[in-house]
Amino acid sequence: MIAQVIVDVPVNRTNRPFDYKVPSWLSPLIRVGSRVIVPFGPRKLQGYVIGIAEQGEGEITSSRLRDVEQVLDDTPPLTPELLELGEWMSRQYLCPWVTAVQAMIPAVLKGKSEKWLVATAALEREACGNSGLLWELFRKRQMPLAEVEKQFPDEYLLVPGFISSGLVATEYQVTDRITRKQQSFVRSLLSGPELAEAIRSLPARAEQMKRALELLQMHEGQSFSIQMLQTEYGISRASLKSLEKKGFVSIEQVEVYRDPYANRRFADKPKPDFTPLQQQVLASILQSIKMGTYASYLLHGVTGSGKTEVYLEAIEQTLAKGREAIFLVPEISLTPQMVERFKARFGADVAVLHSALSQGERYDEWRKIIRNEVKVVVGARSAIFAPFRNVGLIVIDEEHESSYKQEETPRYHAREVALWRAKKNDAVLLMGSATPALETYALATRGRYELLEMPERVGNRPMPQVHVVDMREELHAENRSMFSRKLHEMIADRLEKGEQMVIFLNRRGFSTFVMCRSCGYTMRCIHCDISLTYHKTNHTARCHYCGYTIVQPAHCPECQSEHIRFFGTGTQKVEAELAKLFPGIRVIRMDVDTTSRKGTHEELLNKFRNGQGDVLLGTQMIAKGLDFPRVTLAGIIAADSSLHLPDFRAAEKTFQLLTQVGGRAGRHELAGDVVIQTYAPEHYSIVHATRHDYPAFYRDEMLQRRRTGYPPYFRLVLITFSHEDLPVVIRGAHMLADFLRPRLARTTIVLGPVASPIARVKDRFRFQIMLKYRDEPQLSDLLAQATAAFEEWNKQQKVLMTIDVDPYVLL
Ligand code: ADP
Ligand code: ZN
Ligand code: ZN
Repeated sequence: MIAQVIVDVPVNRTNRPFDYKVPSWLSPLIRVGSRVIVPFGPRKLQGYVIGIAEQGEGEITSSRLRDVEQVLDDTPPLTPELLELGEWMSRQYLCPWVTAVQAMIPAVLKGKSEKWLVATAALEREACGNSGLLWELFRKRQMPLAEVEKQFPDEYLLVPGFISSGLVATEYQVTDRITRKQQSFVRSLLSGPELAEAIRSLPARAEQMKRALELLQMHEGQSFSIQMLQTEYGISRASLKSLEKKGFVSIEQVEVYRDPYANRRFADKPKPDFTPLQQQVLASILQSIKMGTYASYLLHGVTGSGKTEVYLEAIEQTLAKGREAIFLVPEISLTPQMVERFKARFGADVAVLHSALSQGERYDEWRKIIRNEVKVVVGARSAIFAPFRNVGLIVIDEEHESSYKQEETPRYHAREVALWRAKKNDAVLLMGSATPALETYALATRGRYELLEMPERVGNRPMPQVHVVDMREELHAENRSMFSRKLHEMIADRLEKGEQMVIFLNRRGFSTFVMCRSCGYTMRCIHCDISLTYHKTNHTARCHYCGYTIVQPAHCPECQSEHIRFFGTGTQKVEAELAKLFPGIRVIRMDVDTTSRKGTHEELLNKFRNGQGDVLLGTQMIAKGLDFPRVTLAGIIAADSSLHLPDFRAAEKTFQLLTQVGGRAGRHELAGDVVIQTYAPEHYSIVHATRHDYPAFYRDEMLQRRRTGYPPYFRLVLITFSHEDLPVVIRGAHMLADFLRPRLARTTIVLGPVASPIARVKDRFRFQIMLKYRDEPQLSDLLAQATAAFEEWNKQQKVLMTIDVDPYVLL
């Protein structure tokens, strides 16, 4: 038997399967998708079996093959479908196959190859002499070399000598970091009259022991965790131990899942009667679910239109068909509220995967999936790799969110992976958003996805009233506070009424762009129509795409004012100002500083929900997914700061943010107001957000994208190079550009090579090439060839190159 194995050496040279012989004792265990340990050169590595053949290319070659050394799991962590997906990803995103595959499994399963020191047969008691290290090895037989160095720093230098005298040897071993949580459970060894007799035999003062036995008698056949007996029945561990000694009970270690939701009860929430809009939308989706064929939908529904209820129903119907469902949410909106809604509906059938879990907890949730113990996965980006075998539905909530794009290798987008899996599994893909990504909406209007619209809120709740405040006028009226008069007045009003509010600081892009505070003028690149970024070191403003640079002017070119400067403020400053203006106001501040500790995010939200705060103040973090009945005001400070990011998606992101924040107010019985403070009230993203008019925004933004040649009209590939030496990195970038240019279509634009926006990181210089193309059917192949040519060129230079297909971060 021959196993084809991809090994954990993530470089292109080894990006192919290698053949290994499967020794007969391992053949019952090994399967396609198994993790294995194989020798590779002098090392031992973790690998993944991608194929199994009965015989290799004839006896001669197969006799030269090396053996698979170990099979690591009883159940392979990868399904054949996921392996195939990995191969597709490696082509699509130009990464090694093994890297794609490793992105799919929990971190604890990723093996680390480590050098160990092992005792040989020659190491006997006598040979140890007075060496502490040798004694330790005699006892333990083996130790990681790193451990040896730490524990026996003095003897570490003697190791080569021990090796040459044959007492010890070194060996590479692969270790994963799997841990399993164990709990002690108590089980009765007696039953019926015997048990009754045992209870009688106990002396009266052995009260706890009696209570324990009575409990076991009452629940015959059941076992109880020691922890539970302690906390709920006040029975000490010592009493249980004595029962064990007497032979009445046994105490066993049982493996349990680490479940962060274990001690929580979830209230049942009855299914609502669907609104006519919901019914209409569901009719289409459920039809496809019933047929069990591939279909894809974009559900465009305003905030509060009842999209989540639609998702829940679609999932329920998928499960009823005996199939499984994956529900993706952006990390940031994987809130306890969201989890609660799922747990309430699907109970123990749900696994939850998010990054706040410890690695062990994550692994345990994942194991429920691989063991077929759950039917639904709720999770952030990487949950798209849930190892289900019969996926019938994939839902992507807030599909426009950029967190669905992974910003390290493999640089995949969960939406594209979802599309692949949906097609592969004859499943339904359901994407939802109040502000779909331009690319998605464009495809939907062209019929690639079926477009479903829910333009109204449930129960005829009105959309909030939006007030736009022109901050330039505030300055002219001598109001230099960060709060406009309008927002000030409304905060005071809510405080008086005892209603709650959300104040949102748009912090993206702060203090990097140059703006005139008198007229709102911002400096933009004359070639690219994006904001110039301020560089403090030499007081220049520079285009991050093409390199265009000007010295920062002392006066505004537009109105000659001197108030032209870069911009900045933070949540702490807002908090201080609130306290000054409204003595006694209770502010709950949520930002990276106040939520870094695990669980604090949830704590703060609970505090706010319980009415322990008047204001929830925060950054992007509070924009999404939160649903508080008593919030009647949303204030947005500096709404347009995200407008000036050096990013062709700046207007789109601003529109999305304003819509999301606006969606926080007036979701329930109380009507809501939104105050948007801006220096650019006439900008189309702000105008259309104010009117809740996505289609109008879409039309205007599409015109911009067409004019400037960005997605969805053109697609992008960003290739970044880095090296300590500037001339070397420039040569590398030019080498690749020269390779690509003659081979690309005439309509494809090659921007650069040019210094990256962040031109040096950790003492490495960065350069980039951006490809803008409309039609390059062979692009993946071409980029693979370019990579190979580059690796050849790069043998001596060691320039780091990354390729980002459909990039989101352009820095
Ligand atoms: P979205 O996901 O579009 O923002 P939700 O599904 O969260 O909207 O619905 C908004 C609110 O309306 C929630 O509190 C939800 O429980 C409620 N809701 C949704 N559908 C209905 C319905 N058909 N009848 C009554 N209430 C509903
Ligand atoms: Zn430019
Ligand atoms: Zn000006």
